[in-house]
Amino acid sequence: MVKRLFDDCRLCEDRGVICVGDADDADFPCPHCNGWCSLCLEQPLAGQSGRPLVGSLLAAARRTAAGLELFEGYLCDFHTAAFNWYVMITPAMIGYLKPGDAYIIVQHIFEAHAFTVLYGYGQAKNSRDLEADAFRAVAAQRHARYGWDGFHVCPPDVASRAMLPDWVIWQFGDMRERRSLPSRARLTMWSIAND
Ligand SMILES: [Zn+2]
Ligand SMILES: [Zn+2]
Repeated sequence: MVKRLFDDCRLCEDRGVICVGDADDADFPCPHCNGWCSLCLEQPLAGQSGRPLVGSLLAAARRTAAGLELFEGYLCDFHTAAFNWYVMITPAMIGYLKPGDAYIIVQHIFEAHAFTVLYGYGQAKNSRDLEADAFRAVAAQRHARYGWDGFHVCPPDVASRAMLPDWVIWQFGDMRERRSLPSRARLTMWSIAND
């Protein structure tokens, strides 16, 4: 394994690992001081002296011959390309949400926006149309966020109107397998119901 980015981390109280939402007792690397890209750890990039890169905490999905695979862990910019779609998540979501489950991200970049996001897939197709309702939902649930600023639960009345992006042309069926990579990232596989 690689060294942590720095010592004296407040998020993990210097342990290098944190607990995540699925209450599996397995530790998960700290997003602040230990967020190395899972795929870099397995297969370092050529030309980077074999050194792993720091990644963002993402839920990423891809279709494989075996079904729909959901990755929950850290990916660098290069390795996000290994997946078809991905979204930013928080540790509290890991293990709880299925691909396509809605949540809300509020961002304050130039102005505030509330995006309705579908787990693993990206923004809802009609995220703009849902924005006013998403802001209202967030205002009503100040304490129900997913542990990090800007990440909020999406209430059922908004989630039920969130439209999948056009390229999601399947429904998935049973969960087939859930496992952890050596990097502690979680991989879950669902069967595809309609093909
Ligand atoms: Zn830490
Ligand atoms: Zn990587």
